[in-house]
Amino acid sequence: MKWINHQIVTGFIVYAATDDALFVASSIVGAVIPDRVEGTPPQESRAYWKWRRNHRTWSHYPPLYLALIAAIQFAIAYFQNPQLTLALNLILYALVGALLHIVEDGICGKVPIFTPRRKHGIKLFTVGSWKEYFFAGLIVCGCLFYRFNDLFLASSFKL
Ligand SMILES: [Zn+2]
Repeated sequence: MKWINHQIVTGFIVYAATDDALFVASSIVGAVIPDRVEGTPPQESRAYWKWRRNHRTWSHYPPLYLALIAAIQFAIAYFQNPQLTLALNLILYALVGALLHIVEDGICGKVPIFTPRRKHGIKLFTVGSWKEYFFAGLIVCGCLFYRFNDLFLASSFKL
């Protein structure tokens, strides 16, 4: 999935789940973390293949992000400080954004699940194809319907 679609889809999912603008912003930043930590692919052939071998391994390994999320939730419960809780929640939603990135990569390619080097996934569409944009649009519509379904249902009852 292209970065822009990672950010849009992730932002709408977090918006539907939380209705919180700050958490949405955080998740949008986090939505590109797994690719950003890999750096840009080198131009030179041998360096590129070395980079490519490690592509979508540790950077896209969900247990790492889940462990960090668990540690942050533990810290929030332990310290119970409102300012610290807000800061930690912003980091937490950036990590949620990274996790969603991995799920989104898993539906257009392969990502590691159980071990960092063994990848699994289903290829619903090719990256950059019209199907990707259609799929992203479908998720956005689903999120909007989920968030505003009260309005849809309430107005249909008035008819
Ligand atoms: Zn990725």
